[in-house]
Amino acid sequence: MPRAEGGAGGTVGDAIEAIAAVSSHSMAAGFLFWSQRTFIEYLLQSPNGALRERLLPGLLAGATGLSNAMKLLSGLEELQVVARPKGEGWRIDGRLPWATNLIPGGFHVAVAVALPGGSPFVAALPHDLPGLARSPDLALMGMRATATAAITLREALIGPAHLLHADALHWLPQVRPAFLGLQCGMAIGLARRALAEAAAQAGPAREVLRPAREALAARLAAQEQALREGLAQGRLPAEAAALFRIRIALAGIVAEATGLELQAAGGRAYLRPHGDGFARRWREAAFVPVITPSLTQLQAALAAAGRQGRAA
Ligand SMILES: Cc1cc2nc3c(=O)[nH]c(=O)nc-3n(C[C@H](O)[C@H](O)[C@H](O)COP(=O)(O)OP(=O)(O)OC[C@H]3O[C@@H](n4cnc5c(N)ncnc54)[C@H](O)[C@@H]3O)c2cc1C
Repeated sequence: MPRAEGGAGGTVGDAIEAIAAVSSHSMAAGFLFWSQRTFIEYLLQSPNGALRERLLPGLLAGATGLSNAMKLLSGLEELQVVARPKGEGWRIDGRLPWATNLIPGGFHVAVAVALPGGSPFVAALPHDLPGLARSPDLALMGMRATATAAITLREALIGPAHLLHADALHWLPQVRPAFLGLQCGMAIGLARRALAEAAAQAGPAREVLRPAREALAARLAAQEQALREGLAQGRLPAEAAALFRIRIALAGIVAEATGLELQAAGGRAYLRPHGDGFARRWREAAFVPVITPSLTQLQAALAAAGRQGRAA
């Protein structure tokens, strides 16, 4: 984050590496980090300087409820929060079924809002906005303690001061590379840790699995390099498909890496407490294909782009 904004001068690439480092201990913690850093990225890329100056210095918990908006970009879903003009601002109603990092009493959540007859916009809503209700934490099978809940909005009044951007369809493609790139940090950290755990096992499977482990580590390193270079050269914002392919490849690597960890540990992976770390990584790995944009969405988007390319 730029020093002028109170950061340490790091790039998005540095942030990805930091998220990977945290995710190698706990991808749930890495996902909270992703939410926080992605929300900060929204503020950094917002033309609303007053909002940035107000929120950045003391931001306790930034939540990104933009799955719905990312699905809108791919033509998969309508926006589920709708605005009607009211005075200088809008009255908004709707529901976000999922958002993470909703630390009670301290969060701000980014939401895309449909405006019938106008452009959809993106707003940052504070936890104490009248008309905003947070559900209890969702009962998850993994990724627990991520303060993940639903948000309901009933006749909540907001104004220009809440705007991250007045034109969601213009702005979302601009922030999507950081959104997706930072997500990659989670998969990278989890895959690194599962591979390291597989290598650390002393059992008979260790040598049998060595070639597969080394090949997978090389594939992981190649994807990390592609991501680093693409971001450093500024290519990925213009080449959404390249970033989609990296995300898809990393999801496959995570699945294989946790599978290798299981094979290397054998029955001990099932024993508690020995297998607790593995069990957590196994459940965390199940989240990687589901997080928006999901693997099926990315594959569908690449197939559609391919069809358009052929038609052109
Ligand atoms: C632990 C956790 C935390 C989350 N945190 C957040 C958060 O902070 N912010 C947020 O915005 N969301 C969050 N989500 C939501 C998450 O990203 C959702 O999984 C996502 O919105 C997809 O919705 P769905 O799984 O209900 O899939 P559905 O929309 O019900 O679809 C089912 C499956 O079909 C696929 N699919 C649907 N339509 C198509 C299509 N046309 N082409 C190809 N594939 C399709 C979907 O990708 C999915 O795999 C979280 C989810 C979980 C599990």
